[in-house]
Amino acid sequence: MGWQFEPVGIIHSCFAEKFAIPRQPLLAPAATATLELLPPFDQPEALEGLEGVSHLWLLFVFHAAGHGSKHLRVRPPRLGGNQRIGVFASRATHRPNPIGQSVVRLDGIVDGRLLLSGVDLLDGTPILDIKPYVPYADAIADAHNPLAAAPPAPIAVDWHDVAREQAEAQQRRLGQPLVALIEQCLAQDPKPAYQTPDAGREYGVRFWDVNVRWHYPAPERICVLGVEPV
Ligand code: SAM
Repeated sequence: MGWQFEPVGIIHSCFAEKFAIPRQPLLAPAATATLELLPPFDQPEALEGLEGVSHLWLLFVFHAAGHGSKHLRVRPPRLGGNQRIGVFASRATHRPNPIGQSVVRLDGIVDGRLLLSGVDLLDGTPILDIKPYVPYADAIADAHNPLAAAPPAPIAVDWHDVAREQAEAQQRRLGQPLVALIEQCLAQDPKPAYQTPDAGREYGVRFWDVNVRWHYPAPERICVLGVEPV
């Protein structure tokens, strides 16, 4: 024992907080990030051969979750938050060692930084390792998992006129696909599954440096109310 892991890089992502991050990667293709490599891996040699690779596996630390969890069973949000399953049957963030894994799209490499999309990673996430996705080994045509058989069904996302204009203005300023990011993340229905939303209740989250506010005019429908700089 006595292994010690040092991060090889740090994620700079659109997700300033944990709330409203999709539960898995690639559910929000507009969720972008850059991966900054740390010395001694911040040299071109470490990336040789990645040209032409479309996706990467990232192994990372759930740095904003508890660690050293000894719980044998967890209550995944996906199952409504009240059904327990074994920790090793879940992708819960609270686990014995706080290690996560995500497959993300590699959109390019600029000045030694990896440009990524489809991420489900909080800003500041430490990256322990980067591995190329290997289609023949990693894509398993007949794989099955009854607890997560299909992606969550998206819900409808509408806009108040003013909110849509605000989002488009912030999108131009940021040079990032903010409108699509909001639609894709909110369509995952970020509120806890056990909450029955009442139309008077407002929810909010920060993407990049903008606050996004919404409410639920109906249980399966979101309306974006405002998109304003922090
Ligand atoms: N794809 C990864 C996996 O399977 O290991 C993560 C799955 S986990 C269910 C996804 C959640 O992790 C996101 O909804 C987000 O709230 C949370 N998360 C992402 N980055 C995190 C971090 N650095 N620390 C703590 N929680 C994080």
